[in-house]
Amino acid sequence: MRLILFGSPGVGKGTQAKIFSKNFNIPHISTGDILRKAVKDQTELGKKAGEIMANGQLVPDDLMIGLIKDVLTSGDCKNGFILDGFPRTINQAIALDKLFEQLKIDNVVLINIIADENEIIKRLNNRRACKVCGNIFALKDIEGLDTCPVCGAKNSFYLRNDDKEEVIKNRLQVFKTTTEPVLDYYNGKGRVITVNGFDTIENVNKKIVESLKEKSISY
Ligand code: AMP
Repeated sequence: MRLILFGSPGVGKGTQAKIFSKNFNIPHISTGDILRKAVKDQTELGKKAGEIMANGQLVPDDLMIGLIKDVLTSGDCKNGFILDGFPRTINQAIALDKLFEQLKIDNVVLINIIADENEIIKRLNNRRACKVCGNIFALKDIEGLDTCPVCGAKNSFYLRNDDKEEVIKNRLQVFKTTTEPVLDYYNGKGRVITVNGFDTIENVNKKIVESLKEKSISY
Protein backbone atom coordinates (compact mmCIF):
# COMPACT_ATOMS: atom_id res chain seq x y z
CA MET A 1 0.00 0.00 0.00
CA ARG A 2 1.32 3.41 -0.97
CA LEU A 3 -0.82 6.34 0.16
CA ILE A 4 -0.47 10.10 0.33
CA LEU A 5 -2.77 11.60 2.96
CA PHE A 6 -3.73 15.07 1.86
CA GLY A 7 -5.83 17.80 3.47
CA SER A 8 -5.74 20.93 5.54
CA PRO A 9 -4.08 21.00 8.98
CA GLY A 10 -6.33 19.38 11.58
CA VAL A 11 -8.37 17.34 9.14
CA GLY A 12 -7.24 14.00 10.62
CA LYS A 13 -4.45 12.94 8.24
CA GLY A 14 -2.14 11.82 11.04
CA THR A 15 -4.85 9.84 12.80
CA GLN A 16 -5.79 7.96 9.63
CA ALA A 17 -2.14 7.48 8.69
CA LYS A 18 -1.46 5.81 12.04
CA ILE A 19 -4.35 3.36 11.51
CA PHE A 20 -3.18 2.35 8.01
CA SER A 21 0.40 2.12 9.18
CA LYS A 22 -0.58 -0.27 11.99
CA ASN A 23 -3.01 -2.37 9.91
CA PHE A 24 -0.62 -2.80 6.99
CA ASN A 25 2.61 -2.71 8.97
CA ILE A 26 4.19 -0.03 6.81
CA PRO A 27 5.90 3.20 7.89
CA HIS A 28 3.94 6.36 8.63
CA ILE A 29 6.04 9.21 7.30
CA SER A 30 4.88 12.46 8.85
CA THR A 31 7.10 15.32 7.70
CA GLY A 32 5.69 17.44 10.55
CA ASP A 33 6.77 14.83 13.12
CA ILE A 34 10.22 14.49 11.53
CA LEU A 35 10.66 18.26 11.63
CA ARG A 36 9.42 18.56 15.22
CA LYS A 37 11.96 15.95 16.29
CA ALA A 38 14.70 17.81 14.40
CA VAL A 39 13.72 21.03 16.21
CA LYS A 40 13.72 19.26 19.58
CA ASP A 41 17.15 17.71 18.87
CA GLN A 42 18.43 21.03 17.46
CA THR A 43 19.88 19.40 14.34
CA GLU A 44 20.93 21.61 11.40
CA LEU A 45 17.50 21.00 9.82
CA GLY A 46 15.78 21.73 13.13
CA LYS A 47 17.62 25.04 13.55
CA LYS A 48 16.45 26.12 10.10
CA ALA A 49 12.86 24.90 10.51
CA GLY A 50 11.95 25.92 14.07
CA GLU A 51 10.96 29.53 13.57
CA ILE A 52 9.26 28.87 10.22
CA MET A 53 7.08 26.19 11.79
CA ALA A 54 6.24 28.31 14.81
CA ASN A 55 4.86 30.93 12.41
CA GLY A 56 2.79 28.42 10.48
CA GLN A 57 4.79 28.87 7.27
CA LEU A 58 6.27 26.17 5.04
CA VAL A 59 9.84 24.94 5.35
CA PRO A 60 11.70 25.56 2.02
CA ASP A 61 11.16 22.98 -0.73
CA ASP A 62 14.84 22.06 -1.13
CA LEU A 63 15.08 21.00 2.52
CA MET A 64 11.81 19.05 2.37
CA ILE A 65 12.61 17.32 -0.92
CA GLY A 66 16.03 16.26 0.40
CA LEU A 67 14.41 14.94 3.55
CA ILE A 68 11.76 12.89 1.72
CA LYS A 69 14.35 11.46 -0.68
CA ASP A 70 16.37 10.15 2.27
CA VAL A 71 13.31 8.58 3.85
CA LEU A 72 11.81 6.98 0.72
CA THR A 73 15.07 5.50 -0.47
CA SER A 74 15.67 3.86 2.88
CA GLY A 75 14.92 0.14 2.95
CA ASP A 76 12.03 0.69 5.38
CA CYS A 77 9.71 1.88 2.63
CA LYS A 78 10.17 -0.93 0.13
CA ASN A 79 6.87 -2.65 1.06
CA GLY A 80 4.83 0.53 1.15
CA PHE A 81 4.38 3.76 3.07
CA ILE A 82 1.88 6.35 4.20
CA LEU A 83 2.96 9.91 3.45
CA ASP A 84 1.40 12.48 5.77
CA GLY A 85 2.12 16.17 5.16
CA PHE A 86 4.07 15.79 1.91
CA PRO A 87 3.77 17.07 -0.79
CA ARG A 88 2.57 20.52 0.26
CA THR A 89 3.66 22.51 -2.82
CA ILE A 90 3.58 21.87 -6.59
CA ASN A 91 7.40 21.75 -6.59
CA GLN A 92 7.33 19.03 -3.95
CA ALA A 93 4.73 17.09 -5.98
CA ILE A 94 6.89 17.27 -9.11
CA ALA A 95 10.00 16.18 -7.20
CA LEU A 96 8.05 13.33 -5.63
CA ASP A 97 6.90 12.12 -9.06
CA LYS A 98 10.50 12.10 -10.26
CA LEU A 99 11.51 10.12 -7.22
CA PHE A 100 8.69 7.60 -7.76
CA GLU A 101 9.83 7.21 -11.36
CA GLN A 102 13.39 6.50 -10.22
CA LEU A 103 12.15 4.01 -7.66
CA LYS A 104 9.70 2.45 -10.18
CA ILE A 105 6.68 3.18 -8.00
CA ASP A 106 3.45 3.84 -9.94
CA ASN A 107 0.58 2.79 -7.70
CA VAL A 108 0.33 5.67 -5.27
CA VAL A 109 -3.15 6.85 -4.25
CA LEU A 110 -3.83 10.31 -2.84
CA ILE A 111 -6.50 10.40 -0.13
CA ASN A 112 -7.98 13.88 0.04
CA ILE A 113 -9.67 14.46 3.41
CA ILE A 114 -11.93 17.49 3.53
CA ALA A 115 -13.68 19.32 6.39
CA ASP A 116 -15.37 22.60 7.14
CA GLU A 117 -12.93 25.38 8.08
CA ASN A 118 -14.74 26.40 11.28
CA GLU A 119 -14.70 22.79 12.43
CA ILE A 120 -10.97 22.62 11.74
CA ILE A 121 -10.19 25.75 13.76
CA LYS A 122 -12.18 24.32 16.67
CA ARG A 123 -10.42 20.97 16.40
CA LEU A 124 -6.89 22.40 16.26
CA ASN A 125 -7.50 24.65 19.21
CA ASN A 126 -8.98 21.79 21.20
CA ARG A 127 -6.21 19.29 20.72
CA ARG A 128 -3.10 18.59 22.73
CA ALA A 129 0.10 16.77 21.82
CA CYS A 130 2.25 14.59 24.04
CA LYS A 131 5.72 16.15 24.18
CA VAL A 132 7.33 12.71 24.56
CA CYS A 133 5.69 10.52 21.86
CA GLY A 134 4.15 13.29 19.72
CA ASN A 135 0.70 11.68 19.59
CA ILE A 136 -2.21 14.05 19.39
CA PHE A 137 -5.43 13.87 21.42
CA ALA A 138 -8.73 15.72 21.51
CA LEU A 139 -8.99 17.55 24.85
CA LYS A 140 -12.19 15.68 25.70
CA ASP A 141 -10.36 12.33 25.38
CA ILE A 142 -7.64 13.20 27.91
CA GLU A 143 -9.76 15.09 30.41
CA GLY A 144 -8.55 14.32 33.93
CA LEU A 145 -5.61 12.21 32.70
CA ASP A 146 -2.10 13.04 33.86
CA THR A 147 -0.34 10.32 31.85
CA CYS A 148 -0.23 9.89 28.08
CA PRO A 149 -2.45 6.92 27.05
CA VAL A 150 0.05 5.96 24.32
CA CYS A 151 3.49 6.23 25.93
CA GLY A 152 2.66 6.64 29.62
CA ALA A 153 4.65 9.88 30.01
CA LYS A 154 3.57 11.98 33.00
CA ASN A 155 2.19 15.52 32.59
CA SER A 156 3.31 15.63 28.97
CA PHE A 157 0.33 17.26 27.23
CA TYR A 158 0.86 20.65 25.62
CA LEU A 159 -0.72 22.93 23.05
CA ARG A 160 1.56 22.93 20.01
CA ASN A 161 2.80 26.44 19.16
CA ASP A 162 1.34 26.11 15.71
CA ASP A 163 -2.06 25.06 17.10
CA LYS A 164 -2.47 28.47 18.75
CA GLU A 165 -5.26 30.48 17.20
CA GLU A 166 -3.14 33.19 15.57
CA VAL A 167 -0.85 30.60 13.94
CA ILE A 168 -3.76 28.36 12.85
CA LYS A 169 -4.99 31.20 10.64
CA ASN A 170 -1.58 31.37 8.88
CA ARG A 171 -1.52 27.61 8.39
CA LEU A 172 -4.99 27.58 6.84
CA GLN A 173 -4.07 30.48 4.57
CA VAL A 174 -0.88 28.71 3.45
CA PHE A 175 -2.92 25.58 2.80
CA LYS A 176 -5.38 27.47 0.58
CA THR A 177 -2.85 29.39 -1.44
CA THR A 178 0.06 26.97 -1.75
CA THR A 179 -1.01 23.44 -0.88
CA GLU A 180 -4.54 23.15 -2.29
CA PRO A 181 -3.32 23.57 -5.91
CA VAL A 182 -1.40 20.29 -5.44
CA LEU A 183 -4.78 18.57 -5.58
CA ASP A 184 -5.39 19.72 -9.18
CA TYR A 185 -2.00 18.32 -10.08
CA TYR A 186 -3.03 14.89 -8.75
CA ASN A 187 -6.62 15.04 -10.05
CA GLY A 188 -5.14 15.05 -13.54
CA LYS A 189 -3.60 11.68 -12.79
CA GLY A 190 -6.90 10.01 -11.73
CA ARG A 191 -5.70 8.45 -8.52
CA VAL A 192 -7.47 10.67 -5.99
CA ILE A 193 -10.06 9.60 -3.43
CA THR A 194 -11.95 12.32 -1.57
CA VAL A 195 -13.60 11.65 1.78
CA ASN A 196 -15.35 13.89 4.28
CA GLY A 197 -13.27 14.05 7.46
CA PHE A 198 -16.09 15.44 9.58
CA ASP A 199 -17.09 12.08 11.08
CA THR A 200 -15.79 9.59 13.64
CA ILE A 201 -12.26 8.24 13.18
CA GLU A 202 -13.66 4.74 12.50
CA ASN A 203 -16.16 5.98 9.89
CA VAL A 204 -13.58 8.05 8.04
CA ASN A 205 -11.31 5.01 7.95
CA LYS A 206 -14.15 2.79 6.69
CA LYS A 207 -14.98 5.31 3.96
CA ILE A 208 -11.38 5.37 2.76
CA VAL A 209 -11.13 1.58 2.67
CA GLU A 210 -14.49 1.28 0.86
CA SER A 211 -13.55 3.94 -1.70
CA LEU A 212 -10.28 2.18 -2.42
CA LYS A 213 -12.21 -1.05 -3.01
CA GLU A 214 -15.02 0.61 -5.02
CA LYS A 215 -12.56 2.22 -7.37
CA SER A 216 -10.76 -1.09 -7.62
CA ILE A 217 -7.55 0.78 -7.06
CA SER A 218 -4.81 -1.69 -6.50
CA TYR A 219 -2.51 -0.56 -3.79
P1 AMP B 1 2.12 19.15 10.25
O1 AMP B 1 2.37 18.46 11.55
O2 AMP B 1 2.07 18.22 9.08
O3 AMP B 1 0.92 20.08 10.29
O4 AMP B 1 3.41 20.08 9.97
C1 AMP B 1 3.79 21.08 10.90
C2 AMP B 1 4.64 22.13 10.20
O5 AMP B 1 5.82 21.51 9.66
C3 AMP B 1 3.99 22.82 9.02
O6 AMP B 1 3.14 23.89 9.41
C4 AMP B 1 5.22 23.30 8.25
O7 AMP B 1 5.81 24.43 8.89
C5 AMP B 1 6.18 22.14 8.43
N1 AMP B 1 6.04 21.14 7.33
C6 AMP B 1 5.60 19.85 7.44
N2 AMP B 1 5.59 19.25 6.23
C7 AMP B 1 6.02 20.16 5.35
C8 AMP B 1 6.21 20.16 3.93
N3 AMP B 1 5.94 19.08 3.19
N4 AMP B 1 6.68 21.29 3.36
C9 AMP B 1 6.97 22.39 4.09
N5 AMP B 1 6.80 22.47 5.41
C10 AMP B 1 6.33 21.37 6.05
